[in-house]
Amino acid sequence: MTCRMCCFVVLGALAAPVCARAADLRTENVVYVMLDGFRHQEVFSGAEEQLLQGEGGDLELARMRFWRATPEARREALLPFFWKVVAKEGQVIGDQERGSIAQVANPHKFSYPGYSETLCGVADPAVDSNNKVHNKHLNVLEWLHGQKPFAGRVAAFGAWDLFPYILNQPRSGMVVNAGYTPFTEGKVTPTIATINRLKDEMTRYWKGEPFDALPYETALEYLKTRKPRVLFLSLGETDEWGHDNRYDLYLEAARLSDGYIETLWNTLQSMPQYRGKTTLMLSTDHGRGLGPDGWQGHGKDLPNSENVWMAFMGPDTPALGVRADTGRVTAGQMAATLAAFLGKDYLSAVPEAAPPVPGVIAAKN
Ligand SMILES: [Zn+2]
Repeated sequence: MTCRMCCFVVLGALAAPVCARAADLRTENVVYVMLDGFRHQEVFSGAEEQLLQGEGGDLELARMRFWRATPEARREALLPFFWKVVAKEGQVIGDQERGSIAQVANPHKFSYPGYSETLCGVADPAVDSNNKVHNKHLNVLEWLHGQKPFAGRVAAFGAWDLFPYILNQPRSGMVVNAGYTPFTEGKVTPTIATINRLKDEMTRYWKGEPFDALPYETALEYLKTRKPRVLFLSLGETDEWGHDNRYDLYLEAARLSDGYIETLWNTLQSMPQYRGKTTLMLSTDHGRGLGPDGWQGHGKDLPNSENVWMAFMGPDTPALGVRADTGRVTAGQMAATLAAFLGKDYLSAVPEAAPPVPGVIAAKN
């Protein structure tokens, strides 16, 4: 282990002299869930007053469901597991009012470049479309999959059908299941068979992705039956309902996602392989615009699209809650952070990758 891991030492209150060597870490598994295009505004303040007054669907019901008197009550109504558990037992980064800025560093501020930056660790401006092209960059999932203890034990599930391209499935050879593609790797359990049928039978409201319940249920069944060391799941409805100007369903999708994450976490804690040995990572691939005319979209021309959020919880993460004064943290740091939780130095393979997020991993002495 090189001493690059010592970069976790941060200044100020967190300046414990720790050098997180692999032997000190308790994390043996990582589960990483991303919510596509889910804004930091809703994460930290819940439903937004101005957007509950527009044309975004059944906003009367949305107000009843998610409007509360204070930002703290609103965000807890929207994301109860995130705020009652993750933000208490783990860490949340990106609360700009507390001097914590999380951003994508790529200039495009849409999905493929955002996922590529996050999972490859590199914000390459040349990754500039959502086209079905195989990513030339190495990603951290593929890198782990190529190493002995993780070979065959890394799996990625996504709502959006671009993931086999973003993660370059043909090159990596790892499990990547996305879109409406049935899951046929290994033994097809009765649950997987049912999900596969639903993928075929359900109305295809969006061309490129089914509703989140399908990839989520596929990932959950895979977790229970195949017990991967690293599980990645991307949920897409928050972004899709945003583009469709349905603030009501954007909020409902976030609430559903929070419930999925809670079930995933509780499932992990019920299984000996995972209990007390698994780190949860959460983030998004880009922000969205501002106000009634901007929130639906995102991109280089819509201010605020670069602002994101991230969260961590697990046996190696100090329970600091909402982090203050982190300065700027970028999405690309997630790749090396994921590896570092597993005692691996991603920068040894990709020196130009962004370094791990400071302060989220503490060594156990
Ligand atoms: Zn996106």
